[in-house]
Amino acid sequence: MTGNSIEQIPVHDLCSNPMKQSCQMKSDLVAAQQQAADAYARAVTDLARQISVASRREYELLNQVAEMARKRSEQAHTDLENHIAIHGCDPV
Ligand SMILES: [Zn+2]
Repeated sequence: MTGNSIEQIPVHDLCSNPMKQSCQMKSDLVAAQQQAADAYARAVTDLARQISVASRREYELLNQVAEMARKRSEQAHTDLENHIAIHGCDPV
């Protein structure tokens, strides 16, 4: 009886309470999606800024970075949609 057992409740259990608007897992997924979208936006900006000065190799590298960021952003979006579909929390 140390009183700290609440910290051992998995996120998903907290998530399944009837107050669906306070889904911690969804908040985390939304944050992850925003981060990934920001990273993609930065990569595209970088690519656009460097395109006139970069060598072909540098350009290809930047292009790869942007492409990876785009995929990560799409994956984050899919993860969020899957969570909402499975868990049934509000899609906001
Ligand atoms: Zn949820």
